Amino acid sequence: MVANGSASRLTVLSGPSGVGKGTVVAAIRTAYPHIWVSVSCTTRRPRPGERDGVEYRFVSREQFAGLVAAGELLEHAEFAGNLYGTPKAPVLERLAAGSPTLLEIELQGARQVKASMPDANLVFLTPPSWAELERRLAGRGTESADVIAARLARAEVELAAETEFDEVIVNDDVGRAAAQLVGLIEAVCPK
Ligand code: ADP
Ligand code: 5GP
Repeated sequence: MVANGSASRLTVLSGPSGVGKGTVVAAIRTAYPHIWVSVSCTTRRPRPGERDGVEYRFVSREQFAGLVAAGELLEHAEFAGNLYGTPKAPVLERLAAGSPTLLEIELQGARQVKASMPDANLVFLTPPSWAELERRLAGRGTESADVIAARLARAEVELAAETEFDEVIVNDDVGRAAAQLVGLIEAVCPK
């Protein structure tokens, strides 16, 4: 159990690959800079435009294993062939300071956070339709057909888990979805 002795509650955003989590989080970073967004570690290669230490900390499998062994990750999971994890210390520091704190992670990680921090508010971002999810994932143009297929197979599992979440937001419009998420974050982290 990870202690969370402050007034501030952690918000966790999940949802299928391609739904627009990264886009909504980028909108929050720009328009609502008072909200702190965790930077995950991943063994995935950077996409064009991704900066080390901003969107992710890009690490080797060996470095990732070292972080796990040292107990430095709040949660971690394998997703479509790559490892992802949330550095624990910065999250606990922000919560202790009472800052609005957001994680953007996949389903297995969200479940781990709920188990260790039952107070966390779990928010699920869902697409307007399955066809729109397929269109967005292919339209991003960053993955091969094989990787898109693996992510869509995983998306079916993730969509079936929507009822495990405390809140659901439909990503029909980025600005609207971001504003709704900020409302939820601020509701659990009073100023
Ligand atoms: P995720 O982080 O969930 O995998 P991304 O943020 O990379 O998804 O978004 C996938 C694609 O969908 C991107 O090309 C993005 O521009 C587009 N997108 C995101 N949100 C919307 C939206 N509300 N309407 C239309 N396109 C969107
Ligand atoms: P992508 O490769 O598209 O950036 O991310 C793939 C999936 O990994 C997404 O669902 C994203 O939310 C998730 N993810 C990103 N960071 C983390 C993390 O630290 N932990 C876990 N469990 N999932 C993460």
